[in-house]
Amino acid sequence: MSHTHAPQALTQALPSYLDPNHLGPWGIYLQQVDRVTPYLGKLARWVDTLKRPKRTLIVDVPIHLDNGTVAHFEGYRVQHNTSRGPGKGGVRFHQDVTLSEVMALAAWMSIKNAAVNVPYGGAKGGIRVDPRQLSLGELERVTRRYTSEIGIIIGPTKDIPAPDVNTNEQVMAWMMDTYSMNEGATATGVVTGKPVDLGGSLGRREATGRGVFTVGCEAARRIGMDIKGARVAVQGFGNVGGVAAKLFAEAGARVVAAQDHGGTIYRAAGLDVPALLDHVARHGTVKGFADAETLPDADFWATPCDILIPAALEGQITEKNAGRIQARMVIEGANGPTTPQADDILHDRGVLVLPDVIANAGGVTVSYFEWVQDFSSFFWTEDEINARLVKIMKDAFAAVWQVSEDNKVSLRTATFIIACQRILHARDLRGLYP
Ligand code: GLU
Repeated sequence: MSHTHAPQALTQALPSYLDPNHLGPWGIYLQQVDRVTPYLGKLARWVDTLKRPKRTLIVDVPIHLDNGTVAHFEGYRVQHNTSRGPGKGGVRFHQDVTLSEVMALAAWMSIKNAAVNVPYGGAKGGIRVDPRQLSLGELERVTRRYTSEIGIIIGPTKDIPAPDVNTNEQVMAWMMDTYSMNEGATATGVVTGKPVDLGGSLGRREATGRGVFTVGCEAARRIGMDIKGARVAVQGFGNVGGVAAKLFAEAGARVVAAQDHGGTIYRAAGLDVPALLDHVARHGTVKGFADAETLPDADFWATPCDILIPAALEGQITEKNAGRIQARMVIEGANGPTTPQADDILHDRGVLVLPDVIANAGGVTVSYFEWVQDFSSFFWTEDEINARLVKIMKDAFAAVWQVSEDNKVSLRTATFIIACQRILHARDLRGLYP
């Protein structure tokens, strides 16, 4: 058997369904894989495995709207890799969702799950819909039809969805119910991030933000930054950014700026985070919060701060704004918020980037705990869950830090080195079928 790559004429570099001139987020992911390939040794012969998703499903999601007409939405479920276990990753509802984006998000899940060593591959799903335009009934019908359509490839031992942008516990409850109805048996383990009363886990809702906070503290300690008094700016004040802001504030940091789809607010002395969380719960945005100044959105990136937490969508930190960032540390709560060009600019300017694939892995880590609890029908206390989460995040981050120092590479490349080695080692052990 040859230990080199197959000749180019035999194997295509890109799946034919992608436009090579508009690769989008998938193109960014490919660049990240190229950066890690020189560190893979003999396992590099398997690297093309990572450059194409294992399984890509595109579904039509037709529903009756409340006004009596029928609307069609495009839905996706991509299983990027299942070498280490079933597919795992969230589902997002957003009007800008594309196949390239879901492919990249699925691939980042493979990397993330391997980086924290939970026994999963990587997957992701999405529907190209603006959920804010839907009534609750329409949202439920979209969710149920989508779940039924992707039901042919998901399952508790095959691929386990979870919440992501604009999906929540209620959406997971509908997904679990729909899958269970089709199967004829209640299958709580088919999704994670469910309501606690329906097989969900304590601590899951806060887990991603708690993980962001944990790795932030670990990194701060290593670079001699005191969290007490540190100024924090957060983009996205939802499940990830809102919880991270709360934990940083409780640890004595000053959350000085917050931005979301509604606008940008600033207060040099520090925002009242519990009051702001309350405001967001009532109004759906940070906009209009009384005790703060309003800033033009573009100024958010230049906010004087020590820690910047992008916790919204991908592609936010680009070569256009990376040069203006004042923070010493960027913690990626979102998936894919920094482009490779911006990554290089930040690196050259000495800004430490804690990459998504480790920084926001707390969510899927507690998803794993939820899945284990569902299988054993035995539920843990919140203290146990948080303690196990913090241990996994600290250990995984320490390993990433070490690989980064040993190889003089960024924390992102270090995380990719650890993760790709784990995935491709599993691939190598399993071998090819047939
Ligand atoms: N959507 C989250 C993420 O991007 C969580 C995925 C999960 O829990 O499966 O990591």
